[in-house]
Amino acid sequence: MINLEQLSNLHQTYPLQTYSITSVISSALCIGAGGSSGSLADKPIVRNSEGNLLIPASQLKGRLRHECEKIARGLKWPICYAPNPQSMCPQRVGLTETCEHKFKREEYKISGIDKRYHCLICQIFGNPSLPSHVTFDDLICTEEIDNIPEVLRSGVTINRRRCTVEERKLYLLETSPANTQLRFTGNIHLFNAPVFTGVLILAGLRHINALGGSKSAGLGWLHWELPNLPLEPTIWDFLAKGSVQ
Ligand SMILES: [Zn+2]
Repeated sequence: MINLEQLSNLHQTYPLQTYSITSVISSALCIGAGGSSGSLADKPIVRNSEGNLLIPASQLKGRLRHECEKIARGLKWPICYAPNPQSMCPQRVGLTETCEHKFKREEYKISGIDKRYHCLICQIFGNPSLPSHVTFDDLICTEEIDNIPEVLRSGVTINRRRCTVEERKLYLLETSPANTQLRFTGNIHLFNAPVFTGVLILAGLRHINALGGSKSAGLGWLHWELPNLPLEPTIWDFLAKGSVQ
């Protein structure tokens, strides 16, 4: 249970928390790594050393940060512009004076670290001068390797200006098998994270409907199985006050 007193100290409420999350792939998944060996594909799918398919933590984290930024901006919180380090907090190069002024608010002060201001998203995911309070595992496919056949899809590069196929640009993508509801599971770890981290991250995950390449061709569509956090009205009340300075 979170109370308002704790909300006044946003930064050290959760010493350590771990959420187990699962993504269930509805179509075929194409998260590739160039240059891997052992496959005919130009872009083979990413696997760990045991051969299990995986969704890399870095890809999930980047995408989730982006979704959380959109939610926070929607709630009228001023949010810096990742991933360029200079346009992120605490520098925020390129912002007008009026925009920059909006970042100078009580909730953006980090006690004990520095005197500069860091937006809600930087307080969770970090920036060049602030450590991240959240780490991600790779999401590993739980299906037996032997049950997953190698699937290759061919594609060609289109010249959009001439509306024709480029010559000698046939390529092969490796994907997971289609429509098999493959499950990818891993953990998210929160360490000394601000109290609003859990709800914002889980809300952000719900906005990710697809991962990997060729999404417009129908690949990588998914849904999530997420932990049921208790509804914390005080946290949502806090998040709803982005425009109140
Ligand atoms: Zn920021």
